[in-house]
Amino acid sequence: MKNYDVIIIGGGPGGYNAAIRAGQLGLSVACIEGRATLGGTCLNVGCMPSKALLHASELYEAAASGELGHLGIEVKPSLNLAQMMKQKDESVTGLTKGIEFLFRKNKVDWIKGWGKLDGVGKVKVSDAEGNVSEYHAKDIVIATGSEPTPLPGVTIDNQRIIDSTGALSLPEVPKHLVVIGAGVIGLELGSVWRRLGAEVTVIEYLDRICPGIDEETAKTLQRSLAKQGMSFKLGSKVTQATPSADSVSLTLEPAAGGEAQTLQADYVLVAIGRRPYTQGLGLESVGLHTDKRGMLENQGHRTQVPGIWVIGDVTSGPMLAHKAEDEAIACIELIHGKPHQVNYGLIPG
Ligand SMILES: Cc1cc2nc3c(=O)[nH]c(=O)nc-3n(C[C@H](O)[C@H](O)[C@H](O)COP(=O)(O)OP(=O)(O)OC[C@H]3O[C@@H](n4cnc5c(N)ncnc54)[C@H](O)[C@@H]3O)c2cc1C
Repeated sequence: MKNYDVIIIGGGPGGYNAAIRAGQLGLSVACIEGRATLGGTCLNVGCMPSKALLHASELYEAAASGELGHLGIEVKPSLNLAQMMKQKDESVTGLTKGIEFLFRKNKVDWIKGWGKLDGVGKVKVSDAEGNVSEYHAKDIVIATGSEPTPLPGVTIDNQRIIDSTGALSLPEVPKHLVVIGAGVIGLELGSVWRRLGAEVTVIEYLDRICPGIDEETAKTLQRSLAKQGMSFKLGSKVTQATPSADSVSLTLEPAAGGEAQTLQADYVLVAIGRRPYTQGLGLESVGLHTDKRGMLENQGHRTQVPGIWVIGDVTSGPMLAHKAEDEAIACIELIHGKPHQVNYGLIPG
């Protein structure tokens, strides 16, 4: 059993920034992370690998489409998908190792394993070998992030029916990729595979793409994506997906009701959103409850239980890495006794 000033559960942009800031302020701090590497969703299977693939696929398309030829640069590209994935994985490793370095530099202990609250001020951690250790802290910050929201009737097997993590590591370019959900993650990953040669159809329940962003911007984006070759079926819902060895058969209906139709694809990406992740966290041991969206509410990063704080995707606000980071700094400064407030009106999307 070891005592800390602060324990942070989760090593994503919320958790690792909180841990580093606590170390900088001279607090004794540990960060518990169950994944094999630090950096959370963002560095491992989110922002960073998706941007690496967007960058590489953009250059490939510029060369393959003749755009470079028009500028007087003659090239005939061929796609080496394995190398594209390798450079993406290398950039992820570089970034996650960078967080490990920053932890050492700022005297943050990385406790490897899954953390579970065991009463106020106490956390039990189970490691990969099944050992359980106990840690105490005056303040505990929950930064456990989020996970893809499942869609009833469409079971993710990460073979033919994939989530965003699967879409970052496909072994081949799909002939026809169906993306369920026209939010930023689906459109981004759909763009990667379209640029690499896939036919991409996006199915969205609402009658517009990117709910939550300005309508005129969303319309302009849709026009631009359609011009690039992406197809859209708006106002449609997928009710069933049946995978076989090399394809998926989808049943879809108009959202308002009406005749069902079927659609064939070789891969289906389910990207209907993300939901807060609090599984196995032992919330009941401290009397905390999630709301009906599975979210832990906060008032200035404080939960209803004194000494337990919450930041990032697992609490309210946009699910964005820089929002989690900003909350991390504010939360730790408050714990340290400094006034600090996040300006939610100034978070770029
Ligand atoms: C494909 C994709 C692209 C994205 N692109 C962008 C982008 O371009 N810009 C942007 O701002 N955002 C982007 N995001 C969102 C961004 O990744 C999240 O907003 C951000 O990671 C949230 O940080 P977090 O620290 O709250 O949670 P997370 O990054 O999810 O980290 C939480 C960590 O906690 C760990 N954990 C959970 N429970 C426990 C436990 N009990 N014990 C120990 N560890 C635990 C998890 O393993 C995880 O590593 C993207 C997401 C995805 C999926």
